[in-house]
Amino acid sequence: MDNIDFKRYLKQYPDKDGRFGRYGGAYLPPELIPAFKEINEAYLTICHSSQFISELRRIRKEFQGRPTPVYHCERLSRKLGNCQIYLKREDLNHTGAHKLNHCMGEGLLAKFMGKKKIIAETGAGQHGVALATAAAFFGLECDIYMGEVDIAKQAPNVARMKVLGAKVVPVTHGLKTLKEAVDAAFTAYLREYKDTIYCIGSAVGPHPFPLIVRDFQAVVGTEAKEQFKEMTGFLPDIVTACVGGGSNAIGMFVPFLDEPVELVGVEPLGRGEKMGDNAASMSYGSEGVMHGFDSIMLKDAAGEPGPVYSIASGLDYPSVGPEHAFLREIGRVKYDSATDEEAIDAFFKLSRYEGIIPALESAHAVAYAMRRAKEMGQGSILVNLSGRGDKDLDYVIEKYGFGDKYKEF
Ligand SMILES: *Cc1c(COP(=O)(O)O)cnc(C)c1O
Repeated sequence: MDNIDFKRYLKQYPDKDGRFGRYGGAYLPPELIPAFKEINEAYLTICHSSQFISELRRIRKEFQGRPTPVYHCERLSRKLGNCQIYLKREDLNHTGAHKLNHCMGEGLLAKFMGKKKIIAETGAGQHGVALATAAAFFGLECDIYMGEVDIAKQAPNVARMKVLGAKVVPVTHGLKTLKEAVDAAFTAYLREYKDTIYCIGSAVGPHPFPLIVRDFQAVVGTEAKEQFKEMTGFLPDIVTACVGGGSNAIGMFVPFLDEPVELVGVEPLGRGEKMGDNAASMSYGSEGVMHGFDSIMLKDAAGEPGPVYSIASGLDYPSVGPEHAFLREIGRVKYDSATDEEAIDAFFKLSRYEGIIPALESAHAVAYAMRRAKEMGQGSILVNLSGRGDKDLDYVIEKYGFGDKYKEF
């Protein structure tokens, strides 16, 4: 850590090959190398273009409703002692989560590159909805590849995508879930890349996607730092966010890297420590290559991506963005976890005591903040509330009722 100057960090990482130390890179079939090279070159040009930057600013303000506020949870904090919890309200970003931050950036990039279509895969449908929204805004065609099993489970998100004008392409081979959808989307991209750009859903995948997504998400941390200082006159002691692939966390953390602030990513511990019961890649994983990049991943006995589970479908990914693996290795960011049960407890308590129903993903970060607040008894914690919980209500009510047993401290 000693030899890293965090004031210059963003210029140094990733390097030109997309490496964050030993992690990252681009492991691609040879046929796709030109397509990724084209995206990389376009991005490196465009991110310095004043026209691109000012257009993105306008979109964020007028379409997305940015900046989103920072909110002080006074009642919840009081219940836990004297430590003060604050939320960066990405649930108030248009479409109800942080994902639109990188999807609008990717859509604008597609437009500047003269592409006609954007394609992606989706699991639970959150990325698909955000991308379909961006496509509608920019007047681009949009193909979303989705496993048939997921299509059946996620009817409301499938309906949203279709209303927004996207084509939902059912993937019918193998287990018919996310993994097959990723393969199908890549195959389609290979076929269509002259007119198309592939848009990834998190800070993962082959270079340059971890870089692009980080840069587009950094608006979250940049706003939050400014807002927090203005509200309190200080910096928070801890900044925390949930980690699936790691996009909302990296966007929140990056602007705080050169500050004396403890940064903590929270992974889903699900039902417990056994393989297949969680998606806590950092706790139980090891280095490997999957989906085109080198990072820490959960592996099965054969060394393939392991089975994962979390109550929050946005967090059940068997790896993590390569920059997170690097930031842990150099000791700058710590990774911890929260179980399903803790996330549900936080879900009901934030709803009941602050009037904010969080996404189950975000509830993992809130659970961690509540745990630390109790331990510390003083200081302040800033949580990235990555999304709102409307999408999770039916499931939560069916399984946990209205949460009466979670309302007491
Ligand atoms: C998708 C999603 C996440 C997880 O993705 P990251 O890339 O790790 O941020 C977290 N919260 C919400 C609300 C999501 O929709």
